[in-house]
Parts: sequence; structure tokens; C-alpha cells
Amino acid sequence: MKITAVIQARVGSSRLPAKVLMDIQGKPMLWHIVKRVSSAKLIDEVVIATSKNNNNDRIVKFAKEHDFKIFRGSENNCLDRYYRAAKELKADVVVRITADCALICPEVIDNVISEYLKNGYDYVTNTIYYTYPEGCDVEVFSFEALKKAWRECRDSVAREHVTPYFKNSGRFRIKNIENKIHINPEEYKWSVDRIEDMEFVRRVYKYLYHGNVFSYKEIMDLLEKYPELKQINSKAIINEGFYRGFLKLPKIKAKKLRINKSLLLKRKADKLIPNCSQTLSKSYSQFVYGAAPVFLEKGKGSRVWDIDGNEYIDYAMALGPVILGHNYPAITSAIKKIAVKGVTFTLPHRLEVELAELLCRTIPCAEMVRFGKNGSDATSGAVRVARALTGRDKVACCGYHGWQDWYIGVTTRNKGVPGEVRKLTSTFEYNKIETLEKIFAENPKQIACVIMEPVGVVEPEDNFLQKVKELTHKNGAILIFDEVVTGFRISLGGAQEYFNVRPDLACFGKAMSNGLPISAVVGKREIMKQFEEVFYSFTFGGEIVSIAAAIGTIKEIKEKNVIRHLWEQGRKIKDGYNVLSKEYGLERYTQCIGLPPRTVIIFKNRTGQDDLLLKSLFQQECLKRKVLFTDDHNICFSHTDKDIDYTLRVYRTALDILRDAISKNKVRKLLEGESVRPVFRKP
Ligand code: PMP
Repeated sequence: MKITAVIQARVGSSRLPAKVLMDIQGKPMLWHIVKRVSSAKLIDEVVIATSKNNNNDRIVKFAKEHDFKIFRGSENNCLDRYYRAAKELKADVVVRITADCALICPEVIDNVISEYLKNGYDYVTNTIYYTYPEGCDVEVFSFEALKKAWRECRDSVAREHVTPYFKNSGRFRIKNIENKIHINPEEYKWSVDRIEDMEFVRRVYKYLYHGNVFSYKEIMDLLEKYPELKQINSKAIINEGFYRGFLKLPKIKAKKLRINKSLLLKRKADKLIPNCSQTLSKSYSQFVYGAAPVFLEKGKGSRVWDIDGNEYIDYAMALGPVILGHNYPAITSAIKKIAVKGVTFTLPHRLEVELAELLCRTIPCAEMVRFGKNGSDATSGAVRVARALTGRDKVACCGYHGWQDWYIGVTTRNKGVPGEVRKLTSTFEYNKIETLEKIFAENPKQIACVIMEPVGVVEPEDNFLQKVKELTHKNGAILIFDEVVTGFRISLGGAQEYFNVRPDLACFGKAMSNGLPISAVVGKREIMKQFEEVFYSFTFGGEIVSIAAAIGTIKEIKEKNVIRHLWEQGRKIKDGYNVLSKEYGLERYTQCIGLPPRTVIIFKNRTGQDDLLLKSLFQQECLKRKVLFTDDHNICFSHTDKDIDYTLRVYRTALDILRDAISKNKVRKLLEGESVRPVFRKP
């Protein structure tokens, strides 16, 4: 059996032209790559595959000078180039390496090949989920599989990037190899796309290269010793070229949305339901009324259908709860199984204990648990307990915490909240510890608790969470993390686990049960014990269908490594959007921000203010192309690569329309319904 490494190389890189021939320690980058790949023990031969374009004559000349094997094929149809190269060389197994991987490691290549050889897969790689630094990318597949992909794959972007069809078509036995040493791949960018990446690679070579092929471990040890090296090219987007490829694809055509039934039912509902919705962010005012559906009928996986029968890919996922997917089989069957035994009883049910135990095993700060129905129950219960324990009335908060008086009073939606209640809560700014210091200074020994969302769309800087914790405790107050959004999403144990800061109490809701109504306050035993006296009691607190769904959901998140999926898919949509927005010159108008499992697209006008008209036009154009977009992506386990690729094509089309509308000053004119209204204005 012949194992052939095919290194894909060309000089025409838009960011860093001719990077493959740039100098590293006296030799072209491609020379180092060939040497490194050749020293993998399991590889029989190495070939450089470039294109027939004249500008690549330089690569051919370079290869001949060094006696390297070379093949020339199509410039853009790289799948074809690979197929023809492998055929000519009579390869049985192909190892795909790209010529931007200047630090490709022989031992990683050998690991991937040996897994391929052992287990009869068609395609083995370490690039489906990144557990190695980006730039250690290895893909191994049989010639037969390559032939099949070459015959079947029709998508031009997939052909350009060679292997999307292996990953996404469901036609191959595929396997992802994981790094045994746990690292955060987001911290590393070893492939060379830009000058700062080249600078990083050159610095690594300067330390480690003495005519030798240095190993993966040596690079990692170096970066541990000199972490500042990582700063040279940090925050780089992985696979930028892939996202730019969407610009070459045909735009997605708009479909005339028929929404007659929605509009008719809305007229009836207007007389019966104020705002026509139970939740502000789900109301017609958040969509381009007149051009958007008002009522949904059903969902399956990442899809939903409106009452007129239109199908959409859903990104709001009911504002976050649907973490696995709509009508997710394991949860639907858990619900059915329990519902036939009854729903709510006169005494507590054993499942309450089971869920409490599961939460205590899962969430770092959890020693005891009380359930509620909505996030607001949990946050308000936690605040009441803090007040009871400290004997203080005042609260400092940061973020959104629900509809109850103690919180909503400090926002612009404070109608009906007594002035005296409003005075008891103060807000502080995220990442500005001095704003919390001021509250403590102005209210000595009066603050019962600090309640905050541990992370929103901006990450904590300069140890902010730890500082909040110390300041809160120094002032004799209780720290509550509102993890209604972050829980079971950023990490299984919430942001407290991800950032390693343990609060006294924490509140969960949303993603906990894949859409059923349940929330929880958890925390330290001595504080939670207060609930024995503090009144926190609901008729439906122990309703077991939601509890069974929560048990099933948490187990599924754990077993299927759902969190990793959310990060992967969320990163693709975020990076893809930002690359496209930049390519369209719209960076200052719109960006996708936040941690990948939940990102938000923001729209700004020329002076940097929120722009609801731009948001409306973008939303309208997405809806016409089957993407249900409000402003955030609550990624779920059912969002597939296909969904994300399609969505990025839709986004590319909508951005194209946006750019045109901005330049011709006709954003409002293009709206086919009413502009969306502000969800909420924070104080
Ligand atoms: N806290 C946070 C951080 C939230 O996002 C929300 C709801 N969006 C709540 C609390 C309140 O949850 P609920 O709407 O379920 O009462």
C-alpha cells in the first residue's frame, strides 16, 4: 500500500502573496513543509500539487531545484487536482496537507495515519473539531474515497476546499482524531495567512530550528515558556479563505413569503392578547411586521415552520432554551414516558431529588438546589435569600435578570414599579470594577448582594469576575451569578466553570431542559438553607415532565459533548459573518460578537448608534431565504455544517443587499414592513 502526502500549494494568496516561497531561516517556507512532512514515518512519498496558472511556474522551478516531486492541476477545483495527482502517482492512501502549515508536525501526521490504518475508515482527520492548534491539520483518505467524492460532489466551494464533501455528505465513514493533551485551540494559530502569522512562525523557527525537524511537543514547550509569542498573531480567524469562498458562490434567490394566515391570526390575537405574545422578544414588534411571520406551528431539529407552512433554519431557538434541537427524539420520548404517569402530584417526586443531585454534580458552586419555572423565579429567589441572610435591602446588578420589580425597575420598562422599590437596586458596568466600588462606597453595609451575568457578549478582562467576588465579600455581600443564558451553554457547569470563579449562588433556566419550563437556584449549603424560612413556593415547582426533560437534557449534553459542538458551529458562523462583513466593507456597520455558543449580530449607523433599520432589512432578507434571524445565534446541537454553510450564503446575500442599500441611501425604502422595535433599552 502506497501512502502519498499531497501538499497543496500556490503563490496566489490574496492576504500574503507568494507566502509559500517566503523565507524562514534561509529557506522557503514550502521547503520546510516538505522536509517536515517527509519525516513522518508512515509516509512513502511526498508531492507538491500546484495549479497550471503561470504564476505558479515559480513553485515548479523551486521544486525542480530541490528535486521535489511536483504535479500541476486545476487552480480552483482542488478536488480535481487532488484526484488527478493521486491517480498519476498511483497512491492508495492520500494525506492532505496545505502549504500554509509551516509548523506541521510529523508525529501528528503519523497519529492520524495510524488511526486510518487501524480502523477501516474512509476519512480520518483532526480538523472536524479542532483539538490541535490550527495549522497542525492532517486529512487522510483512501484513493477510492477521493474518487467517489470527485465523482459525486457538485458544489464549487466544496470542490475548491477538497474535503467538505467527505465531512458533510454522510457518504463516508469518518473519524476525528483528538489531541491527548488538552489545549484551548482558540489560543493557537500556527497556519500562515497573514504577515503576523508569518512573524509568529519565524519566531518559533528562530528558537527551535537548527537544521532539524522539531516536534509538536517542543513547540508547545516553547509557547509555555514564552506565552508572549502567542500574542504575535492571536485572535486570528481560523480558515479565513474558506469563508471568503462564499463570495464566489451564487447569491441565494429570495422567495416570496406567503404569510396570510399569520397576519389574519394576528388580527384576532390583537383583541385577545396584549402585544400578541407572552414574551417581548418573540412579539411581532421584533420582526419586520407585514413581511415576517407572526406565529410558528412546529419545529424539528434546527428547523421551524410557520402557520403558513414556510420552513426556516431557526437561530433564536426560542431565545436559548432549545439547546439540543426542536422535538429532539431523546427528550420527546423522555417527556412521553413520564407524562403517562402523571404530571404534578400532592407530594414531592423522586425525580426532584435525582435532578438536584445531578445539578450538584454538574455545577461547581451547587451544594443544594431549589427549582422554579422561569429564570425570573430563580433570580428573584436568590436575591430574596441574600436579603434575608444579610438583613440588607439593596442590590447591585449587571445584565438582565427578568421581569420582577426589584430588577425591571431600573430599566426603561419600569411602568408599574413603585419608586421606593426602584431606589433599592443600582446597576454597575461590566469590566468596570470602579462602578461597583462606587455603589459599595455610596451604600456602606447596605448592599445585600451583587447579581450579574458572568459574561454577555464581552468577555471579562483583567480578572474582572475574581475582582467582583473579592469586592463583594469584602463588603459582606453575597455574589450571585445569573447563568440563565450561560448555563449549559458556555460550559456544562456554566460560566463559573469556564472562567473558574465560584459564586455563592447561581441561577439557571433556559437551556437546562431543551425548552420545558424549569429554572433553578443553586449554591452554598449555608445560604441555600435560608430557603427553609424564606418564602419561595409554587404550585408547579415540582412538575415532573420538565424535571424529567432536564435530567435527559443534561445527560445528553454530557454524553454527546454538545458544548463542543456549540463552540465549533458558533465559531464558524461568527468568523464567517465577520469575514464577509469585512470583505463587503461593512465592518463598521455590522459585526458578530460574543462567545461562539451565543453570538449577537450588531448593526450600527455611520455615527456608531444602534441601527434598527439595518437590522430590519437584514432580517427581512434572511427570512425570504429561509433563515429565521432576530439578532442572536443560540446555537444548538442540531445545527449542522450544512445549516451553517447555507446560512453563510444567505448572510453573504443579505450583506450584499445591505451594502447596496447603504451606499444608495435606500435602506428604509427597501423595507417591506415595519421596522423592528428596540427589545430593551438598558439603563
Ligand atoms: N436572566 C437572564 C440573564 C436572562 O437572559 C433572562 C431571560 N432572558 C432571565 C434572567 C429571566 O428569565 P425568564 O424570562 O425565564 O424569567
